Amino acid sequence: MNLCPSCGHEHDNNAVRCPECGSFYSKIIEMIDAEAADEEKHTLRGRCKRILDSGDIKLALLQEWQQIKAGLSKQALFALFVIFAFVFALIITVL
Ligand SMILES: [Zn+2]
Repeated sequence: MNLCPSCGHEHDNNAVRCPECGSFYSKIIEMIDAEAADEEKHTLRGRCKRILDSGDIKLALLQEWQQIKAGLSKQALFALFVIFAFVFALIITVL
């Protein structure tokens, strides 16, 4: 059971609108917020914000880096390697 945010009336989890006061539950808004927060986690801005917000910037940076590394798949790492190899080869031929 949940409580209506505007009048406190109890309702089951499936209800979208409060039968008591008629206001829509914030479920949808919460979902959007949760999604935005989740997306924020993976954006550069979100990362920077979290790093700056935390007291220990060095530790936060390390944690972020570990997260990024864990998020990268083997394919992504391979793609990065190919790009680096290509750029390297290009530089060598130009020189
Ligand atoms: Zn209500």
